[in-house]
Amino acid sequence: IRWSEGRGWHDAQLEPYAPLQIDPANMTLHYAQSVFEGLKAYRQADGGVAVFRPEENARRFRRSARRLAMPELPVETFVEAIDLLVRQDEAWVPGEGEQSLYLRPFMFATEVGLGVRPANEYLFMVIASPAGAYFPRGVHPVSVWLSEEYVRAAPGGTGEAKCAGNYAASLAAQAEAANHGCDQVVWLDAVERRWVEEMGGMNLYFVYGQEGPEGGGRENVRIVTPELTGTLLPGITRLSLLRIAEDLDYATEEVRLSTEDWRRGNEDGSITEVFACGTAAVITPVGEVKSARASWTVGDGGTGPITMRLRETLLAIQTGRAPDTHGWMHRIAD
Ligand code: PMP
Repeated sequence: IRWSEGRGWHDAQLEPYAPLQIDPANMTLHYAQSVFEGLKAYRQADGGVAVFRPEENARRFRRSARRLAMPELPVETFVEAIDLLVRQDEAWVPGEGEQSLYLRPFMFATEVGLGVRPANEYLFMVIASPAGAYFPRGVHPVSVWLSEEYVRAAPGGTGEAKCAGNYAASLAAQAEAANHGCDQVVWLDAVERRWVEEMGGMNLYFVYGQEGPEGGGRENVRIVTPELTGTLLPGITRLSLLRIAEDLDYATEEVRLSTEDWRRGNEDGSITEVFACGTAAVITPVGEVKSARASWTVGDGGTGPITMRLRETLLAIQTGRAPDTHGWMHRIAD
């Protein structure tokens, strides 16, 4: 679907995947007018196909576009585009459990020009690609590097938007994490460099306390996640887990949590589990934390029971093995 000043949205087309021709002076190549989304279509237990919360992605896509002075695609048009593509590619939706068809909607400036200003022409596209299970050999904890040198987003910047530039800013930090033997980077706030924000492509959750055997004593458990400060991405998995945790009778809270709170919480045993969440991996346990100044293990370094319960509950909804009580699944007509 194209957008241009004067004409608005027009020229919707479903076409085979193919390379694009780009003018060397295409504005996106120089000024990064590029926003995107990531979501998944899952094969349902009854054999049908459904997409997880596309309206939420559509709304976030509009907010990202607004921040980059790009046109806002109507929510219905976004969902319709997803629906059309998934129906066309139904055969590519894998048949089992955590496998999915990953969908990547994106929009960028197509105008040619070297001046820095909002463009007058854009292209919105969606591509699809089958995705295997993130953990084909079973869920295992990741290690994380607390980045004190680099920041991903500053107040007033584009941190809340899902725009290409934010990911460009993260590459050197991801390489630094890998150099320290860690799987992922954890971002801290830009001002004090002590408040925990999120991971490279996932939001974070902290579990305080333990429940008893058989899941009793849930009143002793508190599940917290960093509050949305404007410099971290408001994840749709994060949002969904706040609801799921409440459905499972866990207390939830959105907080400011420092690296020191995290270290001390693990030391005194008040923090029992930490996990990351996002569309790609659903939920990933965090086992080890490293930074230039300190290293520590989360719990026993393994995968906690509450992490696994939340993971199973969310996946059961996404794959149609549990009732969709919140109306989150967008069913693709057969
Ligand atoms: N933070 C960042 C930086 C991300 O790229 C993502 C993935 N979109 C997330 C968090 C998680 O968001 P979601 O649950 O919507 O996938």
